[in-house]
Amino acid sequence: MNPLFNIDVAIVGGGIAGLWLLARLRERGYGALLIESDRLGTGQTLCAQGIIHGGAKYGLRGYAGPTAEAVAGMPDLWRRCLNGEGDIDLRGAALLAEQQYLWATRAPTSRLVAFFASKLMRGHVEKVADEGMAVSDYPPVLRHPDFHGTVYRLDEPIVDVASVLNILAERYRDAIVRNRGPVVLKADGNLTLHHPERAQWVVRPAVTVFAAGAGNAGLPWATLQLRPLHMVMARGINLPGPLYAHCVGASEVPRLTVTSHYDASGRLIWYLGGGLAEEGVRRDRREQIRAARRELQALLPWVDWNPVEFATFTVQRAEAQQRSRGRPATTGVFRDGRVIAAWPTKLALAPLLAEQIEEVLRTLDVRPRPLDLRPLADWPRPEIGVYPWDWEDLAWS
Ligand SMILES: Cc1cc2nc3c(=O)[nH]c(=O)nc-3n(C[C@H](O)[C@H](O)[C@H](O)COP(=O)(O)OP(=O)(O)OC[C@H]3O[C@@H](n4cnc5c(N)ncnc54)[C@H](O)[C@@H]3O)c2cc1C
Repeated sequence: MNPLFNIDVAIVGGGIAGLWLLARLRERGYGALLIESDRLGTGQTLCAQGIIHGGAKYGLRGYAGPTAEAVAGMPDLWRRCLNGEGDIDLRGAALLAEQQYLWATRAPTSRLVAFFASKLMRGHVEKVADEGMAVSDYPPVLRHPDFHGTVYRLDEPIVDVASVLNILAERYRDAIVRNRGPVVLKADGNLTLHHPERAQWVVRPAVTVFAAGAGNAGLPWATLQLRPLHMVMARGINLPGPLYAHCVGASEVPRLTVTSHYDASGRLIWYLGGGLAEEGVRRDRREQIRAARRELQALLPWVDWNPVEFATFTVQRAEAQQRSRGRPATTGVFRDGRVIAAWPTKLALAPLLAEQIEEVLRTLDVRPRPLDLRPLADWPRPEIGVYPWDWEDLAWS
């Protein structure tokens, strides 16, 4: 007979949603176990730009809306955690930047969109300096005589996502196992775990939470949508230093969102998303690189972009299905009996998602109970995944 393991909560999937939930439940005394079939963060989490949105980006459409409301408290919440003063202790995880910038070009439409967003999101958005005024507070890349835009500072820190995963994975290591193959829910509500060398284990959870991103597709009652992005990465000695900024155009999606990272060899990487990545799903790799070059040349013409190398990849955002097929306003939590399917929609919203799931556990009367994890001591533990700019199969040109 296969060994049977009774637990309070099984969490399937070790991206930010699963790991944050595990941390929250373990801190509250629940017997929770996280099961990952690959490396931690391999789905969307390590592809994220790491921006802890405070809502400014969502004010670009001219009204705050439910997304801006949902994320408004997230920068503060994450900062408290990073300082060891929050629910989850993230001390040791790194911030890449204290804030994101937003810049409008000279075009009247761009200026207007940024102006209204700044009025709407007062408190989260601060104008740095008007054209022609002192530029010492601009991000260094924009401190150039040929820059003629308007710059705002947003209350949006940027986290080093892998460092967050590392902290959580290390602290709760005994409650995280790697399974050989995707975890499948059996009709009786049990899960079968496959050890590489030993007999299977049957886990009997009081509640199972699927926080598996696109892997939640196996649950027919929790329909998901996949929205692709064609992301671009740039590297080379001509990159003019780190930049964390949205450039706004005429639409509600930033024209370009730039974050900066360092690859395993210490080289600076510009990671490009926003409108470029949204619209880029209709372009192949070559066209997307051409589009990125054009955009950078148009926005930062004083940089010589010729020697800069580019690579691209496509990734799917997995979210709860919307009738409009557009971006969900907030997290998605669905329940069928004692099984929950959850999507944070944004990395920034993982803490809110964990809070909502804990609320569901209370509704189901699942109470914290101590769990002896020693029987799992010799189970393999998943490693942390790799950032896209360090993927081996990328073609740079
Ligand atoms: C390009 C890009 C940029 C983004 N930038 C930002 C940003 O700057 N700020 C922000 O707030 N949000 C951002 N997001 C959104 C954010 O990345 C996601 O909302 C978040 O990472 C989703 O986390 P998750 O844990 O739900 O899913 P995932 O990260 O996809 O993790 C799912 C995990 O489940 C595992 N898994 C899947 N199926 C199974 C199974 N059957 N059994 C066991 N394990 C399984 C996978 O291996 C994976 O590790 C971005 C998204 C993308 C794609």
